[in-house]
Amino acid sequence: MKKLKVVEIFYSLQGEGANVGTPSIFIRLSNCNLNCWFCDTDWNKGTEMTVDEIRAAIDKYPAFGIIWTGGEPTLQLTNEVLEHFDDYINAIETNGTNPVPSRIDYITCSPKVTPEVLKKNFPDGVDEFRYPYGVGEQLPPDIGDLPQATNYFISPLFLGKAKERFILNPRNVNDCIEFAKNNPPWRLSLQTHKILKIR
Ligand code: SF4
Repeated sequence: MKKLKVVEIFYSLQGEGANVGTPSIFIRLSNCNLNCWFCDTDWNKGTEMTVDEIRAAIDKYPAFGIIWTGGEPTLQLTNEVLEHFDDYINAIETNGTNPVPSRIDYITCSPKVTPEVLKKNFPDGVDEFRYPYGVGEQLPPDIGDLPQATNYFISPLFLGKAKERFILNPRNVNDCIEFAKNNPPWRLSLQTHKILKIR
């Protein structure tokens, strides 16, 4: 079994999207295939861990679910790996550049690619689209251009990196509120883990 390079593993509440407030084990995998200016994750770091080592790190928590995040988790996560975690509900948070393994139970896509790429990678749809938005960035596309989803969110970017990553940018928030009001079923999602300063 190959090892996974892991930035961090922690237990917290899902801070955003349709499952906000749900106790979850976060496994943040290293590496990304993009380099977004607003990225708040140090995905270059990481420690190689075997599946057994990851299980030992997570099985002490009472959560039902794992959130595989990153970085971009599809760069490392495979069905072969997920077989070892099938007693959990496995969710993924992906940038949409790659298809996700079929053993994933819940897909959240925060797209950084065009709707055409999303349709190719997610022919059966996703559970949740969560578009990050900041002033000067593109608003989400028409729902008709996207693969099917159960939930559509727009999520305002915070001010920046380091300490500022905990500060909401009011202009981004206002634009997202107006977008949601004018474009149901899009909804506002706030990164409450940053507001609460929980991980
Ligand atoms: S896709 Fe996500 S993890 Fe990768 S650089 Fe962009 S924000 Fe960061």
